[in-house]
Amino acid sequence: MPYSIDRVGDTLSFLGEGPVWDERTSTILWVDILAGHVHALETATGRHARLDLGEAVGVVALCPDGRLVAGLKDGFAFVDRRTGRMERIHNPEAHLPGNRFNDGKCDPSGRFWAGTMPLTEDRPTGSLYVMGTDRHAHRMVTAVTISNGLAWSHDRRYLYYIDTPTMLVARFDYDDATGSLGERRTAFRIPREDGYPDGMTIDAEGMLWVAHWGGWQLTRWDPVTGAKLDAIRLPVANVTSCTFGGEGFADLYVTSARKGLSEAQLAAQPLAGALFVIRGTGSKGQPAHRFLG
Ligand code: CA
Repeated sequence: MPYSIDRVGDTLSFLGEGPVWDERTSTILWVDILAGHVHALETATGRHARLDLGEAVGVVALCPDGRLVAGLKDGFAFVDRRTGRMERIHNPEAHLPGNRFNDGKCDPSGRFWAGTMPLTEDRPTGSLYVMGTDRHAHRMVTAVTISNGLAWSHDRRYLYYIDTPTMLVARFDYDDATGSLGERRTAFRIPREDGYPDGMTIDAEGMLWVAHWGGWQLTRWDPVTGAKLDAIRLPVANVTSCTFGGEGFADLYVTSARKGLSEAQLAAQPLAGALFVIRGTGSKGQPAHRFLG
């Protein structure tokens, strides 16, 4: 497949994650989680803004009014994209100071889902939460170790979900009317030699793209048959997440991380932490759902 891989911008994130494409401003946003930074790069002009939230930020999603909704070290907040000013909403884990929010996304009905993980990454003390449009949060999945990728099937019947150490993509029955989850099954498993499943997106054909931490690659899967359809190698080990953006949602933006790499590994991977764009995959995405709360 004649695709190209290019670096975007000149930032090297320590823990780059959570790319979101805002088609209204042709901007790619992503977070540098432990630094507490939100990056926003206008692709047409190259204008790059960085918000410093002063607190670990695991995820941001778009709101219709241009603000962001974020999952932070300490709960949910709205973020003003121009000033970085935060308006706290709620912290469902105020009783768990050893946890932080990690990956998240909005569902097709505008609820905001985000999961937590222990800072130590070694115990299943995390959960997956949903914050409804009434801004109340509910705990939906428990005993999570590293809550990561989320994607909804286009028929809105399933939520696909990654808890990284499980080495699989789970499929939950999903009720879009209520936001409730039903039975949990395994959609497909990730071979250990391919690295750890991290962030995820769904393309217009309903196929899942999975980022592989420690695996130097993105992979594309049919979640119905469990077949692996494609793999794209990247010049960095820790591939963290991906989303489609650009003209016609045909460009695949990919985040990466420097975290966990030795000096020698960093020397061998000078682009670790960079944002990449892959063109020519033959796949395309759809607009990100907004938080309607
Ligand atoms: Ca992640």
